[in-house]
Amino acid sequence: MGFIYLIEHMEDDDDTAKAIPPWVELEYAHMRQLAGPSAEIDFTHLSKASRDSLSAAFAPRDGLADARCHQNGVRDLMQQHAVPLDQVCLLDPKAELPLSPEDGDGRFKWFLFGGILGDDPPRDRTSELRALGFPTRHLGPVQMTTDTALGVTKLVVDDKIPLAEIPYVEFPTIVFNAKESVEMPFRYIADSGEPKLPPGMRELLYEDLNKSFDF
Ligand code: SAH
Repeated sequence: MGFIYLIEHMEDDDDTAKAIPPWVELEYAHMRQLAGPSAEIDFTHLSKASRDSLSAAFAPRDGLADARCHQNGVRDLMQQHAVPLDQVCLLDPKAELPLSPEDGDGRFKWFLFGGILGDDPPRDRTSELRALGFPTRHLGPVQMTTDTALGVTKLVVDDKIPLAEIPYVEFPTIVFNAKESVEMPFRYIADSGEPKLPPGMRELLYEDLNKSFDF
């Protein structure tokens, strides 16, 4: 059964040509892989330029979830399609209840995430979506990147794996060589012991590491 994942883009997004930062695009592309081919992902609250550039980058591809890009915010989109508020589950680190496999048995068809690059420590920017009144569920006490949160949600509601049975890696150190590494303050899905990063992210982190030392 195909679920619909909603990503409310909440990073600064002026209407310039390349408004989507490269590592947001890598996370969003990774979501299509994690969600699986029967799912759909709607990226909402994009500037016109970002909507056009992401739509071009996210053409339909076998094995990946279909992606739709919108300028509308998620609340307008749900109203436009007359989706009842209580059928949308907001993944919220401060929710009372944890997500469970049963949440995918008809109660929710839409799962909503903040398209926010994790902050350390978190600034609770998800609160802007909480204010819209959707039912909420959490994925445990540790902050995940948005693509990881979507991947975990899919494993729970679609593959029926309980949260506690998913293997995680926490605060991994990404080692580039004997002298260079970077610590990531998030929880990731473990892929044979390694953090499941978006394809291309390791290279981008290394570039950023070198950029930050270019005085
Ligand atoms: N630091 C941001 C959150 C970044 S994570 C903040 O201040 O809110 C981006 C999104 O992933 C969140 O908006 C939420 O939808 C989801 N997410 C990340 N970790 C989560 C967790 N432990 N439980 C539930 N949702 C989570």
